[in-house]
Amino acid sequence: MSDFFQIAIDGPVAAGKGTVSRLLAQKLGFLYVDTGAMYRVAALLAIRNGVDFSEEDKVVALLEKSKLEMRNPLPPKETDGRLTTVILDGEDVSWAIRTQKCSEGSSKVAVLKKLRKVLVKKQQEIATKQNVVMEGRDITFRVLPDANLKIFLTASIEARVARRHTQYLIKGTNTSIEEVTKEIKERDLRDSNRTNDPLQVVPEAWLVDTSKLEIDEVVDLIAKRVDELRD
Ligand code: C5P
Repeated sequence: MSDFFQIAIDGPVAAGKGTVSRLLAQKLGFLYVDTGAMYRVAALLAIRNGVDFSEEDKVVALLEKSKLEMRNPLPPKETDGRLTTVILDGEDVSWAIRTQKCSEGSSKVAVLKKLRKVLVKKQQEIATKQNVVMEGRDITFRVLPDANLKIFLTASIEARVARRHTQYLIKGTNTSIEEVTKEIKERDLRDSNRTNDPLQVVPEAWLVDTSKLEIDEVVDLIAKRVDELRD
């Protein structure tokens, strides 16, 4: 067991993991770690360097020679609605990794075994230094299998599509509900069916369905459980 308190959150695309984890981390004074951003960075590197998402060694090499920094957004410049600030080789790519192309690419590079190994190690190192709320697809069983609290955060497909559609509209991306539904279903399918660490619900995980809850209600619910566990 780590010296620090670890909250591990897994769940499908657009279940609200990012927003909930960010607010929860803020409330508890923990570090929020968005592991999906790391897979997105790998996809961005592949796109920018003309490397196919399936070229494992090349994608890993690109990642290993880059410098990746992640932190809570710093005011005033970085408080523009982002949940986390991602700096790649000195460049702020916090928004560049959120395009549809990067979303799709991230779930494609996420099937690569060697890439997962490199990223899991980085994530584990982060959690040895401070209390964390870490979210992703393999946190409860691969990255932090001894976490103090394990949560599987989910929501109905309708709720998830509606949320992601609104996020795209806010960013000025004009996408139809049908396109968003297709994107989410395709990514869910890839995440749940890959050979390496597919998304799964571990028996000890607390299943939280966010479909009918407001974000603040979800955050309060989890914070209460954390208080009980830390008492
Ligand atoms: O969470 P987000 O949607 O930003 O993650 C992007 C992609 O990265 C996911 O669709 C998934 O394929 C992959 N991922 C993963 N393991 C994690 C986090 C994300 O495979 N721990």
